[in-house]
Amino acid sequence: MVKKVAKDTIKEWLADFSSRGILYGPISGEDRWGKITELNKMGNSFTTVMSPKEIFLPQDQSMFSLNIKDKTNDVSDNTTKLTDRAVLWGMRPCDAKALSLIHRVFNENDYHDTYFNALWESFIKIAIGCTEHLNTCFCTSFEDGSPFGIEGADILATEAEEYWILESITETGDNLVIDFEDATIDEIDEITEIKSKVIESIDNKVPVNIKDKLWNNFDNEAFWAHIGDRCISCGICTFVCPSCYCFDINDEIIDKFARRYRTWDACQFKNFTLEASGHNPRQTQLHRIRQRMMHKLSFFAKKYEDIQLCVGCGRCIRECPVNIDIRQVAMEAEHLTKI
Ligand code: SF4
Ligand code: SF4
Repeated sequence: MVKKVAKDTIKEWLADFSSRGILYGPISGEDRWGKITELNKMGNSFTTVMSPKEIFLPQDQSMFSLNIKDKTNDVSDNTTKLTDRAVLWGMRPCDAKALSLIHRVFNENDYHDTYFNALWESFIKIAIGCTEHLNTCFCTSFEDGSPFGIEGADILATEAEEYWILESITETGDNLVIDFEDATIDEIDEITEIKSKVIESIDNKVPVNIKDKLWNNFDNEAFWAHIGDRCISCGICTFVCPSCYCFDINDEIIDKFARRYRTWDACQFKNFTLEASGHNPRQTQLHRIRQRMMHKLSFFAKKYEDIQLCVGCGRCIRECPVNIDIRQVAMEAEHLTKI
């Protein structure tokens, strides 16, 4: 289903969701994602530092809580589920694809992450096609990467000069846009032309198919030391990354209320692999940065049909305080002699 919607109508549509308290997106001036209470508070998802991951996997998420005051064992399940299905506007296609990868990992075999799934199912996800891009974007280097990709979204919205084109991808998307006017052949052609121009202009030369090359150079200390020596272990790259999903679980008691909660964790932190015995299998930053790069471009691809755990959003490149650039690492890895 492909619909054409006037720009003013889109604004009214989103304003209606907002007035009903069910509109989410990038919050202007906050570099974060959350509820949009007024439409003029909708930010630009293109430049938001954090990814929409925090909507589905919050940085701090209660798993269950317990009132121990009266010793009643009153355990409440904190599976977050919105009562009215909400609309998430503004995810970029790379972010939507990254979240679909997390969804896959969190629903593997018999494991189903009820906390993630409850939030995932609570949202109708509208991705925005990228009619512009940053010089750190490299989504098209990946086999199925595109600034107009549809994986993980219910609707893809693409902006033309005078209107938006809404392409519904799922039945949920169909139901949301069904009342809008169908796009004409000419309007679909105009959007196709816009898409082609953007796709051609994005860097598609990053050699991301290097799973075996990295695998065979796991012990190449010189190669990894050259990156690890610069890394300061801040973890920013993992926190801004839309496809990093590691978390830690802790319990706390405050004023006789107890809760179990999970928080984002990062393979770049020294304590991430610290064992109770005191032994740490990843003792230096060389080991930790190697783990991140290997997971992104080798381990995941070996496990999941050559799909990388990187979508080319470029956030880690933009935010790393010491300019470690995953594109550069891939290019240097490609020239290692051990194949
Ligand atoms: S470019 Fe960096 S932040 Fe973006 S998906 Fe890849 S590893 Fe994650
Ligand atoms: S953002 Fe840069 S310095 Fe910080 S942990 Fe990641 S690679 Fe290392």
